[in-house]
Amino acid sequence: MLNEIAQEIGLSPEEIAQRMEFLEFTAVDVDRLSNIHGHMTEVHLEDIFSELFYAHLTAFPELSAFIPDEAAVDRLKRIQARYFMRLTAGDYGKEYVLDRLRVGMTHQRIGLEPRWYTGAYRKYLSFLLFSVYAHMGHDEGRFLATYDALLKVVFFDMELALDTYFHGDRQKLLHMANHDALTGLPNRTLLSDRLERALLQARRDGGQVALLFIDLDRFKNINDALGHPVGDEVITVVARRLVGALRQEDTVARLGGDEFVAVLTGVEREETIALVAGKLLKSLESPIEIQANEFYISASIGIAVCPGDGDTQDVLMKHADLALYRAKQEGRNTFRFYQRGMNELLVSRLNLETRVRRALEKGELILHYQPQVDLASGRIVAVEGLLRWVSEGVAIPPLAFIPLIEETGLILPIGEWVLETACRQAVAWHDAGISGLKMAVNLSMRQLWSRDFFDTVWRILAQTGCRPEWLELEITESVLMDNPNEAVLMLRRLADLGVTMAIDDFGTGYSSLAYLKRFPVHALKVDRTFVQNVSSDADDASIVRAVIALAHSLDLKVIGEGIEDAAQLAFLSGLGCDLGQGYYFATPLPAEEMTQMLQHLPSLVRGFDIRNCRVRWIGERAAKCMVDRSACPFARSPGELCEHPLVDQIVRI
Ligand code: C2E
Ligand code: MG
Ligand code: MG
Repeated sequence: MLNEIAQEIGLSPEEIAQRMEFLEFTAVDVDRLSNIHGHMTEVHLEDIFSELFYAHLTAFPELSAFIPDEAAVDRLKRIQARYFMRLTAGDYGKEYVLDRLRVGMTHQRIGLEPRWYTGAYRKYLSFLLFSVYAHMGHDEGRFLATYDALLKVVFFDMELALDTYFHGDRQKLLHMANHDALTGLPNRTLLSDRLERALLQARRDGGQVALLFIDLDRFKNINDALGHPVGDEVITVVARRLVGALRQEDTVARLGGDEFVAVLTGVEREETIALVAGKLLKSLESPIEIQANEFYISASIGIAVCPGDGDTQDVLMKHADLALYRAKQEGRNTFRFYQRGMNELLVSRLNLETRVRRALEKGELILHYQPQVDLASGRIVAVEGLLRWVSEGVAIPPLAFIPLIEETGLILPIGEWVLETACRQAVAWHDAGISGLKMAVNLSMRQLWSRDFFDTVWRILAQTGCRPEWLELEITESVLMDNPNEAVLMLRRLADLGVTMAIDDFGTGYSSLAYLKRFPVHALKVDRTFVQNVSSDADDASIVRAVIALAHSLDLKVIGEGIEDAAQLAFLSGLGCDLGQGYYFATPLPAEEMTQMLQHLPSLVRGFDIRNCRVRWIGERAAKCMVDRSACPFARSPGELCEHPLVDQIVRI
């Protein structure tokens, strides 16, 4: 280390010789110094000096602050005495120089400023002034020559000490330019440097280099919900864990935000790289504790390997990024190697992103509405607004683009548009005399955790004139359980506003019963994957039975999703499920069709009960009848086009 510093400062033997020459420090001077050295040793001048010096030094609070305790003073005095004795010992070779650098480095590391340091030399010179004069028998000629030699060696010494200061500062600047301030990890600049070196080396000896793009999953939630200071702490812990999971010779850098890159060299097999990627993911598994809170974090990793996936930095980075995108898409908390063909995926992704962005401006986004039926009375008591993007005449279902717009943040303006449109529609229906109808709106995770979400809901209700009790927010189970403590707080605020909430896709996540009790929600929506098989799969049937029992014991309503046939309906009704939704009653319909259904169906069918009507609205402006003639006056035979007058009206819209 000291050798390296000496090398960096440029302290070669030639340089030392030149310095001495410049100071006119000659062999004669060395002799003169050796002469007083003998005298000093005899009378233990160094001890007297260090006593004096420490008495002087400890009078300054800035300096005594560096001394931990009494015992340290004695130790420091001895070191100091030895240090000054070496000035006159007559040996100024390499060892001497390194020793000076070591002391300078120590002072620099503890933060002792140079002025205290140079002050010590002054004290030394003043102290010797008199004793050397006395030792020379007050012979002015000898005294002046010796004292002159003393000045030369002190300057030689001081230069070395100051060199370490300048060197340290340069090192600090260099470090700052190349490292991330928060985590101390290499930054993009240093990464690029190291990667370039690794690629060169690989090219020379035919080895492989793996580039791992690491991105934390859903980190934005932590930042948005808990603020940046907590986010920063999480990043710091993550950085430490990633470093801990790698070998010393590997590089892990932070690119900014929640993005890290690891560079592995000398990895010849894909399995080894996969092993390391797995290790990195595993290192993040245990919870992170911050201010007595526990956070769970995971990451996704995209991997590109040189030379197979590219041999330049740009190409490798691009390919690792594509692989990362795939890892995110395929469930997160996982890693993916780059594969050819991912390029097209990126192009279509970019394309889709710009197209959705424009869709909002061009009015290509619309809401469809699907009724929720009270299973006891057969009346439509609520509708769920479901987003559709009509691109060039084709309705694209939300699952094809919502995950993407969540990732890009576009979900925020789009979600706001959905909320506002649904609220306006709710008001329009109430104004048209359809009373007591609730409007259910789906929320994405990003919306719920965005800082101003509560204000947005409040503003939209005020602007549209929608009463809070007309609005129901559907939040999926996994979103709530990702961050249950924060969710409780947010849901409470919304509940205080008068808005009701339902947990969507219930059964697909892992709800903790303790939290379920604390969430101020009013309903659980049993996921349709369970409803689908209630009549054929005993396990699904028991799950649905258990969910309904659980919900009722917690005083929650149950909504069965995806009811497609009479058997499913009968099963759910039999268990006391409160509400039902599904193609059996109606598919999601455009607003005008939903309006027709809400307004005319009850007046056309006396004692309207959608369960008996059994008109299957399939949203293609036609409807099929699901029952035989005896159950419905308009029916022909099951499965045929219905003769219900309303169907006709709808077809003609
Ligand atoms: P979800 O909230 O669980 O909505 C129910 C989904 O089930 C809808 O799919 C609906 O069309 C479909 N469905 C209803 N009845 C049946 C049935 O009998 N059989 C079958 N097979 N499917 C049925 P959709 O419209 O494709 O929406 C899918 C998901 O996209 C929604 O699931 C919701 O999570 C999300 N989504 C829809 N609109 C929005 C929105 O405006 N904002 C957000 N954030 N998410 C939305
Ligand atoms: Mg929903
Ligand atoms: Mg659902």
